[in-house]
Amino acid sequence: MDVPFCGGCACGAIRYECTAEPIMALNCHCRDCQRASGSAYASGLFVPADAVKITRGEPRYHRTTAESGNVNGRGFCVDCGSPVLAKQSAFPIYVIYASSLDDPSGHKPTMEIYTASAQPWDYMDPALPKFAKGIGS
Ligand SMILES: [Zn+2]
Ligand SMILES: [Zn+2]
Repeated sequence: MDVPFCGGCACGAIRYECTAEPIMALNCHCRDCQRASGSAYASGLFVPADAVKITRGEPRYHRTTAESGNVNGRGFCVDCGSPVLAKQSAFPIYVIYASSLDDPSGHKPTMEIYTASAQPWDYMDPALPKFAKGIGS
């Protein structure tokens, strides 16, 4: 992934720029991510929070409490509904939805998490490490 990279929502009301390489990139198959993404899983990249600058608009955050007790805030555009980026209470990071990148082709997920919640019609890359719940489980 070349830095900086940019992205935003479908209607352009929200734009961001990120100046750091992703710390990690993964596919999450939990039910909350299924609902937020509209599909079998959400694919995201983790970046340091201070490397992200929201240059236009402001996401609205829908908060859920994960099994770990961490609060996840999934940020979306109130105008077009696109998921854009998410915050976690426990770590100073943003999770950028791969779909919101201007050029998602450089995104390389390296693991699959919450596969215990995956749907029978979900397809996973057999080459990627899989965790039934969170990372390490
Ligand atoms: Zn929008
Ligand atoms: Zn998830």
